[in-house]
Amino acid sequence: MEKILLVEPDYQNKFPPIGLMKIASYHRGKKDYVEFYKGKAPYTTIMNFDRVYITTLFTFYYDLTVDTIQHYLNYMHKDNVYVGGISATLLVEKYKKELGIENVIVGQLTSSSLIGYKDSINIDELPLDYDILDDVEYKYPSGDHIFIYTTRGCLRGCEFCAVSKLEPTFKDTNHIVNQIEAVRQKYGDKRNVLIMDNNILYSKELNKVVQNLNSLGHINNTPNYIEPNYFEIMLKKIKRRKEYKAKYDKQVAELTEYLNNFISRIGSKQLSKQYQQILDYINKEKDKIRALKKVKKDIIPILEKYRFKKKLQRYVDFNQGLDARLLTEDKMKIMSNIAIKPFRLAYDSSSEEKTYKRAFNNAYSHGVKYFSNYMLYNYKDSPFELWKRLRSTILLYENKQDIQAFSFPMKYAPINMTSRDYIGEKWNKKYLSAINAILNVTKGVVAKEKDFFYEAFGSKKKEFIEILTMPNHFIKNRMLFKKSGHINTWKQRYNRLNGSEKKILLKYLCGLINEIEIKNKKIISIIELYKPDAIPATLRRRGAKN
Ligand code: SF4
Repeated sequence: MEKILLVEPDYQNKFPPIGLMKIASYHRGKKDYVEFYKGKAPYTTIMNFDRVYITTLFTFYYDLTVDTIQHYLNYMHKDNVYVGGISATLLVEKYKKELGIENVIVGQLTSSSLIGYKDSINIDELPLDYDILDDVEYKYPSGDHIFIYTTRGCLRGCEFCAVSKLEPTFKDTNHIVNQIEAVRQKYGDKRNVLIMDNNILYSKELNKVVQNLNSLGHINNTPNYIEPNYFEIMLKKIKRRKEYKAKYDKQVAELTEYLNNFISRIGSKQLSKQYQQILDYINKEKDKIRALKKVKKDIIPILEKYRFKKKLQRYVDFNQGLDARLLTEDKMKIMSNIAIKPFRLAYDSSSEEKTYKRAFNNAYSHGVKYFSNYMLYNYKDSPFELWKRLRSTILLYENKQDIQAFSFPMKYAPINMTSRDYIGEKWNKKYLSAINAILNVTKGVVAKEKDFFYEAFGSKKKEFIEILTMPNHFIKNRMLFKKSGHINTWKQRYNRLNGSEKKILLKYLCGLINEIEIKNKKIISIIELYKPDAIPATLRRRGAKN
């Protein structure tokens, strides 16, 4: 039996490490001991393992990722350290050279021979092991979904996208029925499916994928998901962790807490009394697992009677987006058999406006109610083009009270860049940081309400550019600094500047010129407002809290 440590660097990410979850399944299948760690494990932990797999994500996490890998190399021979994932695939030579390692896996782990085993198992097709996620404190915001691929690659090959390097060949990989059933059987039913395909609309098997999802209960306008019984799910989980020789005290504590809280849901006096007796027994017993098993027969009927059992709609999320250019009437008709939430469309340039609107109308006319747009910026666009794209969606949604929609601007960076500092040809440092400040307030999304949009981004080009130029602390705390009169003062000073003075101010704000080089009094007086000490300390503190 080998001892396997799976590692994800300590960055904040939405999705769990799918590659590591498949490697976990592979090693558990070989009866190996598997543990997952987020970040740099202590030396005393690493010493207990025979092999480490480290996943990598975005290239802009390069420094953090290299630092993490180096930490493990300090305590384990390089032949036993394996690195894979997106960033490792895109920068394979850089990782090898900088770290002096050879075991860098490029692309998908399609054969176990790539990691030195002779059983030739396609690890990429194995079901995910969700149990490893319980080894860490970190909670993945989208951790409790079923993740599947039905295709790999994309035929379009957009210049800005890494898919052609990560998955160079487009192919169907549809095994979703087995995968979803395996997950449900082992971990309990999960409501939503996240399809991670890059461009499913190229698939010739779209109809089959939708039929398969229908056969698994994913049917539009048909709520049929009932949350599984948490008590049973947790008991099974604890049993598995015991078998894996993993710690399970946290899961026992969570389950006990759930049971203690559950009493408030019980509507009958008699059952409540009976339940309280069961609780008293569990709470006082030292060997909680023995106690939980012992009460199982008596507690399940009570939990079943009062737990949440409303039937809910199952949703499918094509997480990487649907290609508006390929969304024909026929394909939309097929997809309308499943409930898609949100319906993600890419709207990456103003030249795609017609195609985007056609795709939106197509989906809307087939009853889709939840929309989300991926909007690339800082690429070949200009700041105002981004504003125009955002506004065109807002106008499109106007008077459609029955939909929910938001846009998700995504800052472009070249696929092999190891920092987030890239500045597009028509962009500048200040405008990019201002967009970031606006999006910070709205948690990264732009909602569909017109008033809100005009408030956040301005109602015309002049206002938009003004907002982008204003101090970032004013952007983040618009209400506060409007009320205090600071924004008004800034506007007055800004409007006193002529065109070339505004350009000098912008150069200064982008760090291209020094304050001492500026002699113009009007510019000097507005620069004062960008300094933290221009704001009274009480306001600064309130601004920082927001
Ligand atoms: S269509 Fe999407 S997945 Fe395909 S290359 Fe372009 S951006 Fe990438």
